[in-house]
Amino acid sequence: MSSNALQKPSSSQNKNIAHDNLQTVDYGTTTLKFNLTYSNRKTLEIAVYPDQTIWVTAPEQAEMEKIHDKVRKRGRWIVKQLKYFNRFDPLGDHDEYVSGETHRYLGKQYRLKVIQTKGDQPESVKLKGGYFQIWSNKKGDKDHVKQQLDSWYREKAEKKFDERLVACLETVKKYDIKRPQLQVYNMEKRWGSYTSSGKVLLNPELIKHPVYCIDYVIIHELCHTKQPHHDKEFYRLLNKVLPDWQRRKHKLERFK
Ligand SMILES: [Zn+2]
Repeated sequence: MSSNALQKPSSSQNKNIAHDNLQTVDYGTTTLKFNLTYSNRKTLEIAVYPDQTIWVTAPEQAEMEKIHDKVRKRGRWIVKQLKYFNRFDPLGDHDEYVSGETHRYLGKQYRLKVIQTKGDQPESVKLKGGYFQIWSNKKGDKDHVKQQLDSWYREKAEKKFDERLVACLETVKKYDIKRPQLQVYNMEKRWGSYTSSGKVLLNPELIKHPVYCIDYVIIHELCHTKQPHHDKEFYRLLNKVLPDWQRRKHKLERFK
């Protein structure tokens, strides 16, 4: 895996979300995994979120050892927060592809209405009246219906990502970032990636998320065209270009 990948939680480990810069410290018998980022603040900030992820924002000059010490010192409080959030069940998966089930598009939920086609009626997927209307030749076949919906998502992704790339290039235009080649690409564990050949890859799953989050992934990858690794220079640039990127990232990762 390349070091500049923007990671995505895999469906089997929704709680232990993979991060850009994941660090671990031992606290008693517990291993605390935290996501480390840097900013130009003076003190270290620790936050625990309802999805049981730990976020640490450190001053740019902070030494790794000191960061780990500080996290360990707050261990008791962190573990207490994690236990608190563990009481809540995350949303169940919706993957039977039957009428009534909800699926998302650009951050909004829509119910499925799966309708059996008759005779030589063509198959189709339409977003209509708050519903995904799926006209299918094989209504009861969940793999088939999934395939229909997935190709609809992919088509929308191709169009929308291109449109957002143009908008994001406008946002970063004073940083002399050139338009990279864009490719919608299935990735198990990443939202986006910047390849060594200078291409931006975006996960088609992103189309289920709000535009605000799609833009975050695109801008993250655009920053890699200047700073290939997740080092301080990279975060300095990202903070400048998109000061609220952490909020967007968090929103993206909490979403199922
Ligand atoms: Zn990255």
